[in-house]
Amino acid sequence: DEDPRIHAIKTQIRVVPNFPKPGIMFQDITTLLLDPKAFKDTIDLFVERYKGKNISVVAGIEARGFIFGPPIALAIGAKFVPLRKPRKLPGEVIFEEYTLEYGKDRLEMHVGAVEPGERALVVDDLIATGGTLCAAMNLLERVGAEVVECACVIELPDLQGRQRLNGKPLYVLVEYH
Ligand code: AMP
Repeated sequence: DEDPRIHAIKTQIRVVPNFPKPGIMFQDITTLLLDPKAFKDTIDLFVERYKGKNISVVAGIEARGFIFGPPIALAIGAKFVPLRKPRKLPGEVIFEEYTLEYGKDRLEMHVGAVEPGERALVVDDLIATGGTLCAAMNLLERVGAEVVECACVIELPDLQGRQRLNGKPLYVLVEYH
């Protein structure tokens, strides 16, 4: 059954209607970060799932994947690789374009950050349509990495983002309907 820690995590996520535009129910994880116990429980749940799984790289998606990814990477002994919005990374990059629930964007990754054959975990705060995670997985697979799983704090299941992950497993802590 559901881990007792999940309930408090869910409670600490603030839902802001009509942000950043009408019709969007924005899932605000900054309120979760204000509760050290719930924030730690969030990280611990991921660490318990992924430690000992031979994951060598945690790829975090800008910006909120940069909050949850690094503590997971440190705890499981993996490196952290930032997947960033355009023109932020100074080195040579490869990129993938994707569509957001609100807008269109692109993710970039440094060439050489991930080696062929590495086992990767992709981390973000939330999956909506799945376009962002799909782009992230494509970046890692293009350099020959194996994406073991995608991990998010929140899923909006009504948007069926899982169907865009080409059968790749997705692990989430909280669903919002
Ligand atoms: P998608 O590519 O449609 O799965 O959108 C996921 C990305 O957009 C994640 O990086 C989220 O942080 C952000 N996002 C999309 N919808 C929401 C929402 N309702 N609340 C908070 N963040 C969202």
